[in-house]
Amino acid sequence: MGTFKAIVIEKGEAGQTVALKDFDEKDLMDGDVTVRVEYSTINYKDGLAISGKAPVVRRFPMIGGIDFVGTVESSSHPQWKPGDKVILNGWGLGETHLGAYAEKARVKGDWLVALPASMSPRETMAIGTAGYTAMLAVIALERAGMSPERGPVVVTGAAGGVGSVAIAILSWLRYHVIASTGRMQEADYLKKLGAAEVIDRAELSGPGKPLAKERWAGGIDSVGSTTLANVLAMTRYGGAVAACGLAAGMDLPASVAPFILRGVSLLGIDSVMCPKPRREEAWKRLETDLDPAKLQALTTEIGLSDVIETAPKILSGGIRGRIVVKVG
Ligand code: NDP
Repeated sequence: MGTFKAIVIEKGEAGQTVALKDFDEKDLMDGDVTVRVEYSTINYKDGLAISGKAPVVRRFPMIGGIDFVGTVESSSHPQWKPGDKVILNGWGLGETHLGAYAEKARVKGDWLVALPASMSPRETMAIGTAGYTAMLAVIALERAGMSPERGPVVVTGAAGGVGSVAIAILSWLRYHVIASTGRMQEADYLKKLGAAEVIDRAELSGPGKPLAKERWAGGIDSVGSTTLANVLAMTRYGGAVAACGLAAGMDLPASVAPFILRGVSLLGIDSVMCPKPRREEAWKRLETDLDPAKLQALTTEIGLSDVIETAPKILSGGIRGRIVVKVG
């Protein structure tokens, strides 16, 4: 056993510290599969963990990073053998279990999903947890009866990670996508991803009425708070909205009017503890319903040594699309 590079979050009397360090392999936590990590990513939750702005990290020291793709180095799990390419999203990685910003990870084999046959390791992390969550949201809308014929769909937090991937998927599926953004200067970027219309998020961020003019059949919201309340109030009769984020806040100052007067459904999306069959379904759909050229257009790559400086920028909405972290 030796050491490997890792981004280690520690907590002392003076508060939280984060540093790129040599980590001893013998200090990895229990697990039946050891993985050589190739890529990770920066998600909103990683920004919270690295900056310490929310209690995401529940154990110290912690290695940050909530998702990775890599190659199995050793395994006592029946499904995995050395050389297998695997993906991990969530399950407490980077929160309660030592995470992805490291050259090595030891995890439970039950948490892993096989690399989709038609994707490169880098593509899976260009998607990352944000993109896989966008796919879970699209599948949830479909289960609620959504289809392009029902009308337009709104995507909030459009220029962010979940938003960018959601737009690319929905436009591939021939939806009329309305992108809501605070960065109108990114309108061309959003249209290239497939948005048919781009609106200023200020239209949705102020206090709204219980019911407003019907504008869309449904939507995917990664913003929460008054934005989600307004999205619900503007959803057509019988529509559905998938809620997956809190970029503007955890509160939901809404009324029951959209639910009881228009039959609107609010669909909760959780990627962290999502059961394995649903994960496998989402990754399979991502192989067919996301244009690789659009995925490339929304991706930027950084190295492990750039994570500490870059991750906090996601909290102020300062990152466009997705950031891949090259680890190994
Ligand atoms: P990003 O920061 O990449 O995207 C969030 C976007 O929201 C920003 O780019 C910005 O888009 C918009 N935004 C930011 N701040 C505000 C604000 N104060 N008011 C209104 N809009 C704002 O993050 P991710 O895409 O990685 O994650 C988005 C959200 O989804 C996060 O809250 C994250 O925690 C959550 N999430 C939840 C998951 C789950 O399992 N439920 C999994 C993954 C993510 P623009 O500039 O276009 O307005």
